[in-house]
Amino acid sequence: MIQLIRGFKDILPGEIDIWQQIEGTASALFEDFGFKEIRIPVMERTELFARSIGEDTDIVEKEMYTFPDRKGDLITLRPEATASIVRAYIQHRMYAVDSVQKFYTIGPMFRRERPQKGRYRQFYQINAEVFGVASPLIDVQLIFILMTLLNRLDVTDVQAHINSLGCPECRPNYRQALAEFLVKLDDRLCADCRRRRERNPLRVLDCKVPSCREALTDAPSILDHLCDDCRQDFDTVQTALDRLGIVFLTDKRLVRGLDYYTRTTFEIQTGALGAQSAVAGGGRYDGLVKMLDGPDTPATGFAIGLDRLAEIVGQKKAAAEKPPILFAAALGDEGQQQAFQWVSRWCDQGLRAEMDFGGRSLKSQMKRADKLGAAYVMIIGDNELVEGVVILRNMKTGEQVRIAVEEVVEKVGEIISGS
Ligand code: ATP
Ligand code: MG
Repeated sequence: MIQLIRGFKDILPGEIDIWQQIEGTASALFEDFGFKEIRIPVMERTELFARSIGEDTDIVEKEMYTFPDRKGDLITLRPEATASIVRAYIQHRMYAVDSVQKFYTIGPMFRRERPQKGRYRQFYQINAEVFGVASPLIDVQLIFILMTLLNRLDVTDVQAHINSLGCPECRPNYRQALAEFLVKLDDRLCADCRRRRERNPLRVLDCKVPSCREALTDAPSILDHLCDDCRQDFDTVQTALDRLGIVFLTDKRLVRGLDYYTRTTFEIQTGALGAQSAVAGGGRYDGLVKMLDGPDTPATGFAIGLDRLAEIVGQKKAAAEKPPILFAAALGDEGQQQAFQWVSRWCDQGLRAEMDFGGRSLKSQMKRADKLGAAYVMIIGDNELVEGVVILRNMKTGEQVRIAVEEVVEKVGEIISGS
């Protein structure tokens, strides 16, 4: 038997209600905040991700699905959406249309990490990106949108963590201070971190290995190294969050796994998921558009882990079943033909109807109607059809009425809408 690829998964009909509910709630919210949907391809030239995400990141170092296509061009299944959205923004010169652009997108991402609960090799994200707004208030608006979405989905066990990553002015000083601190840690760091501390010391802060985390308890804080502009910017973020009533935690160790972030960075964490506590992450990436050969444009955004969010929402409610309102139990060829006509019409009119296409006995059809939870069953029997009538049975009360064939369409609608 052929099975799916490790780390990939099927989302089955029993789970899909939750996914649709989340996606619907998110889209409606985005539209209210002036975001437009954008859809980008699942594959891009490898170079796009290598350049934007950064060579020293986990993603580029070891997680990308990269392969040559049949002509030998290197392509990669997208590990995240921001790089592609920026590529599209530049390629279609969207900055020329309006100096402020807000986008959202929902779709699969691919990273070859170790599969476990809440961590897959194909997973889904909801992304939001804003181009052209330098004010940190827009970062706060993104956090507000996230918290509002979670609230609308009744997800309450969540906490916003924020930090600032500084800018090209002040980050080098911090980088220096951190690198000096890390030199002294020697063998307390994992092999990856020993390599990173030279090339990209900030990434060490993001290491998930417990011994590394412990070794970093007394690491210098970037917040003590911010330049005046970055400090003021971060103060504005905190004040605005306070005034919106959003409870947050300032976390000096919070960095993102991607290189292009600047200033405000944030993560929404939850206690509901065990080890994989991050439901969403994001922040400002003012340098990226220019780095990818577009005009110098401030930008900020976030990504929600849809699989993890669906897991939390799913813990709260069992998927709502949508049983048919009406099941047509038909006997004989003519009965099946007639049932088929009616069922097709009813479904078209938004009245969920089902029938049995196998022409089985009335008894087994009634059993199936019961199993599906149909509210009504219409019995279309050979004898009844000769008489020109059908029987409509209310499955809850057991009450039965006879309806003339020519009146079925209108009468059934009346009875069902009146019940
Ligand atoms: P983590 O620290 O959990 O590895 P990350 O920093 O790599 O997350 P981002 O690149 O910021 O994650 O992606 C945003 C969100 O996407 C995460 O907060 C998480 O909810 C989700 N996510 C990331 N990687 C995976 C994965 N392999 N499987 C499922 N969800 C994921
Ligand atoms: Mg990761």
